[in-house]
Amino acid sequence: MFRTTLSAFLSAALLAVVPLSSTAQPVVNVYSARHYQTDEALYADFTKQTGIRVNRIEAGDEALLERLRNEGANSPADVLLLVDAARLWKAQAEGLFQPIRSPLLEERIPPTRRSADDGNGSQWFGMSARARVIVYNKVKVDASLVQNYEDLARPELKGLVCTRSGAHPYMLSLIAAMSEHLGEARAEEWARGVVANFARSPRGGDTDQIRAVASGECGVALTNTYYLVRLLRSRGEDQEVASRVGMVWPNQKSFGTHVNVAGAGVAKHAPNRENAIRFVEYLASDSAQRYFASGNNEWPVVAGVDSGNRALESLGRFKADELPIEAVGRGQASAARIIDRSGWR
Ligand code: FE
Repeated sequence: MFRTTLSAFLSAALLAVVPLSSTAQPVVNVYSARHYQTDEALYADFTKQTGIRVNRIEAGDEALLERLRNEGANSPADVLLLVDAARLWKAQAEGLFQPIRSPLLEERIPPTRRSADDGNGSQWFGMSARARVIVYNKVKVDASLVQNYEDLARPELKGLVCTRSGAHPYMLSLIAAMSEHLGEARAEEWARGVVANFARSPRGGDTDQIRAVASGECGVALTNTYYLVRLLRSRGEDQEVASRVGMVWPNQKSFGTHVNVAGAGVAKHAPNRENAIRFVEYLASDSAQRYFASGNNEWPVVAGVDSGNRALESLGRFKADELPIEAVGRGQASAARIIDRSGWR
């Protein structure tokens, strides 16, 4: 069973909040592709607890990875924070992380929510979890029609399905999970069925899909839970948007709802390795886990941590897909083939 999340948007532009310079004060240089302004409190709390200053570099995931590649062995990056297994896996495959031996992380982060030890040593840890759920227009679509991801390909939903681009990591990861569960051929057939049901060509982010479902332009869509909870926690118009859509935990009678993570690892060439390990271990602490829940409406990955977020908990409990998140990463190539062949662009 599981618990999860929501968010705020930050520009994809490179943003050096504090210049990278060496002083007497211990530092950790964090490269973050998380686009949630609420993470600020997380960094401040770490500094308060440890005296280690956090130099934060924020950028879109591609820009961040590109920067790391260009910097190579001279990179000042100590910690790399990324969103979605698709991106974590890619960074791992490129050797951008290094192995760390941390009994604390091995104890606190469930094995299904972190990378497997791949032998070449690159390693990352999921720190917060989100589920990818189905939202539907209560007037246009009967909930019984959309209980499973597979249902999005049903002929009854012709002209009603909206999604963001299949090439986005959130979609790639879900499609990778479908490929793992159904096999690539059946997953491709499913994807073709979904594409045949499109109400419009894919565009916008998850919140745009929710709004389009609320307005009736679309009948059904997919979203990460934190975007929905953010609307639930808002006031006025946005809350009304949330009230017009119903939510389904997909696949409760089969493999469970797709869950993904935001995660972190120690950068390959970390100049402040010990501080980096402390920072990553800090992210798994009870207080940091609660920041993920209260700030961005994500579920803690550490068992037994109370999120303290009522809107998030109001979503209720559900059966989560226990496919190891590592497998979702591994399935990226299959997912990419499926979106190419099905035209899910
Ligand atoms: Fe997001």
